Order: sequence, then C-alpha cells, then structure tokens
Amino acid sequence: MSAKPVILTGDRPTGRLHLGHYVGSLMQRVQMQDDYRQYILIADLQALTDNGHNPDKVTQSVLEVMADYLAVGLDPEKTTFCLQSELPALPELTMYYMNWVTISRLERNPTVKAEIKQKGFERSLPAGFLTYPVSQAADITAFRAEYVPVGDDQLPMLEQTNEIVRKFNSLAGRDVLTECKPVLSKVSRLPGADGSAKMSKSLGNAIQLAASADEIKQSVMSMYTDPEHLRVEDPGKIEGNVVFTYLDAFHPDQDYVAELKAHYQRGGLGDMKCKRILNDCLQTMLEPIRARREEAMQDPAHLMAILKQGTEKAREVSGNVLADVKKAMGLDYFSKF
Ligand code: ATP
Ligand code: MG
Repeated sequence: MSAKPVILTGDRPTGRLHLGHYVGSLMQRVQMQDDYRQYILIADLQALTDNGHNPDKVTQSVLEVMADYLAVGLDPEKTTFCLQSELPALPELTMYYMNWVTISRLERNPTVKAEIKQKGFERSLPAGFLTYPVSQAADITAFRAEYVPVGDDQLPMLEQTNEIVRKFNSLAGRDVLTECKPVLSKVSRLPGADGSAKMSKSLGNAIQLAASADEIKQSVMSMYTDPEHLRVEDPGKIEGNVVFTYLDAFHPDQDYVAELKAHYQRGGLGDMKCKRILNDCLQTMLEPIRARREEAMQDPAHLMAILKQGTEKAREVSGNVLADVKKAMGLDYFSKF
C-alpha cells in the first residue's frame, strides 16, 4: 500500500478567516486535499495563550472557522478536521518536548518576538504564549506530518519543530518522530489593506471571507496606493502599492494585470480605475464563498458533527504517536514489567 503523504495545518480560532489565510494557506489546502492525507487542526488551546481572559471569543470562533473551511471548498471526505482541546496527546507531548527547549531559544523565535512586542505583553507575557511553538511542534509531530502549508511567519515554528524532532530522535537512537517541510504559497505574506506588513486578525486590517459586498468595497476604496501618484497622467509606483499586490494575488488574468501595471507605471491610469478592477475581482471571488458560508452557519450541529468525527480519528492517530514517544523514553512501565 502506498500511503499518501501527511499534511497538517491549523488555525487559531480567534475570529473569522480572511484573505491572508485564503491566499497564504487555504488555497493550497484545497488543492492538496486530493493527493495528501490532510489534517486541519483548530488550535483552540493555542488561541487561549493570548485570549485566556476571553475564552468566549475562542469558543465562538470554532464554528466560524469551520464554516470558512467548508465555504472555500475543503471537503470532510478528504480532509480530517480536528479540535486541539479534545486531543489529550497534544498537551502531553508538549510537556515532554518542553524539556528539550530552552527559554533563550524560545525568546529568539522571531515571529514570537515580534508578536510579544506587537501585543505589548512586557512582564505580563503569559508563559503559554512564550511556549506556543513547543505546542505547535506537538501538533505537527503528533500526526507525523511531512508537509505543512503555511504563510512565511510560520517558518520559525517549523524550524523549532524540526530541532525538537532531531533532538528526540537522537536521544531515542531511532526515528520516532518525523521532520516536516513547509509548503509556501505564491503569496506567503499578504499585507493588510492599510499597507501594513501583514493582514492579521489581531491587527484589525483584514478583509474576512465573510465580508459583505459593502465591506469589501469600503476596504478596497480606502486601500493604500502610491501616495505620490497625484494626477492620473503621472507615472505611478507599483512597489508597496497594495492594490497591485492584491491584483497579483487574486486576479485570474495575470497578463491583464501585467498590462495594467505597465500602464500605471508609464502614467495615464488612475487609482480609482485600479480599485474598481480589484473590487470587481474580489466581489466575484468572495460572493460564492460568502453564500456557502452562510448556508454552513445555518446548521451548527452539522458543523460540530464533522469536527467531532474528525477529532475521533485524530485522537487515534495522535494517541499512537504519543505511545511511541513514551515507549522511546521508557515510560511504558505497565507493558514492560
Ligand atoms: P492572529 O492575529 O490571531 O495571529 P492571523 O491572521 O495571523 O491571526 P493565524 O491563525 O496566526 O492567523 O495563521 C493561520 C495561518 O494563516 C498560518 O499558516 C499563517 O501563516 C497564515 N496567514 C495568516 N495571515 C496571513 C497573511 N496575511 N498572509 C499569508 N498567510 C497568512
Ligand atoms: Mg498569527
């Protein structure tokens, strides 16, 4: 039997999913679900590492994220959806892995470092937040994931995961855990509509998959372009011009986008016209997603049933990996003696 390779990805249920998730990870997951054994983890424990004071936001977002998944075309027949807090192997693996990771290594993780600064934690940094890369290593290894489709902010997490895998395997003297490889998309970091470095739930600069036609239009019309492009006839800059970044990411006709860019750069093409083209493109793309999403939200019990069924399968898979890890560490007392 030639088993399909395993992929694991996940999202934190801290709000609805947005265009950054779509282009950075969801589109690849939809494409890959036929040829891989795909697990998608709703990382509610990880969401609590910076939302411990607001667990309601996390629990409410679980359904929203499930609806987003089905709306973009992820298929429960091909993809296993699972819930982190219902998989006891994950926190247990995290506890073991914690012993092979130093505080200074955690503090050096560039994504975590940037997030700590952005969230202004200072001395009130939750211990769970600093250590979330370890819990992410548990998530990835518990499924023996070989590939992880992610945005580029996640590369440091995969690096840390593989360090843990190598350390553990060398201690065990055999390959108990599996190393993973990132799969980056064409756009591995979509900027926010305001031109900030990354579209993100916590920065409030996101266009959600659930956005209404008016919300989409409003975001596009207020998008950052070239501040020095004052008159239509002036040449404009496309570097850092968010409208063109989005046209690159989402427009189905890239030859047309190349023509638009050339026109903009030589002068004679107005920002308003470009924004209208982008608005049409996003409206066409998001309309069917929004409709499927609304339909999915009509039946929360069905969404939960899909998640429950996937979680049961994931419990078995992750439980087996945990048993291997414990055995490799000699913690299989009751079958040894
Ligand atoms: P939060 O602000 O709560 O951290 P987020 O919007 O950054 O939310 P995550 O749940 O942290 O989203 O990320 C889930 C996945 O989506 C990761 O693989 C991440 O790299 C990817 N992703 C998130 N935002 C973007 C983006 N703007 N561009 C590309 N990929 C993204
Ligand atoms: Mg994030």
